[in-house]
Amino acid sequence: MSIFDAHCDVLCKMLMDSNIQFQNDHNLQVNMNELINSAIKVQCFAIYVPEAVHPDLKFHAALRMIDLFYERIIKPNPRLKLVKSKEDIKNLKLNEVGALLTLEGCDAICKDIVKLQTLLRLGVASVGLTWNYRNCVADGVLEESAGGLSQFGKQVLGVLNERNIWCDVSHLAEKGFWDVMEYGQFPIASHSNCYSVCKHPRNLKDEQIKALIDRNSVIGITFVADFLSGSSTATIDDILRHLDYICSLGGEFHVGFGSDFDGTDHIVTGIEKASKYENLIHALSSYYSQTQLDRFMFQNFASRLPI
Ligand SMILES: [Zn+2]
Repeated sequence: MSIFDAHCDVLCKMLMDSNIQFQNDHNLQVNMNELINSAIKVQCFAIYVPEAVHPDLKFHAALRMIDLFYERIIKPNPRLKLVKSKEDIKNLKLNEVGALLTLEGCDAICKDIVKLQTLLRLGVASVGLTWNYRNCVADGVLEESAGGLSQFGKQVLGVLNERNIWCDVSHLAEKGFWDVMEYGQFPIASHSNCYSVCKHPRNLKDEQIKALIDRNSVIGITFVADFLSGSSTATIDDILRHLDYICSLGGEFHVGFGSDFDGTDHIVTGIEKASKYENLIHALSSYYSQTQLDRFMFQNFASRLPI
């Protein structure tokens, strides 16, 4: 069994604390040791620039995280390979793990398309348009009276379409979501759950889930307790409820996982770190076949990379 994990925030933790070592640091839920001891075959690493960073310094912070990614994550670990395409994943050897670089929110590019192009050239293969608030591209889910994509936002989406890059709708407000459904060619939701199961603004309504399924997209169920159960604790059973619900809407081929390891203090009991994915696989195997599990854990995301 292989796992494709569509979201973690290791880079942000490493940016905030330069003492953190990727190899074996107990402060990290995803580190090299954890990856080796788990079935994770592809791990997405998000570039999330903290809200507190001054707008003028956000692009530089994104570059610093990309530098950390190459210098402190990829370079010291020959078993870890940058992946950007289905072909890259296919070429991974048995003991190799793929690392996919993603952008969480376009705040770092401000209103400069050259900055976006630069991040893509540096290896970013998936772009989330917003975090929870407004930026030059669109409005996030926590923005009151949130609007859709700006003119610049549509330009950004055009670049993503043209360059075969995932457009990640997690964190994006509803109006923007529907704009992406209309204009975006490769939408995904890397780490979002179901609103019908847990009424949290970060979760997706039924119509949104159905639209993603219709667009042959994929939704990564996330292990953030607040989005699973509405409280600061959650269990594997809560994950099952969300997974089941997406399947009941016709999503068996359109659901995966985006843990949000290292991005939340409220993680699911029993899946406290990457190596504990095993507990989830074990629980799911009572309800789903190996073929279905393989879809959820790996294929649904891996097979939908645009290139
Ligand atoms: Zn997030």
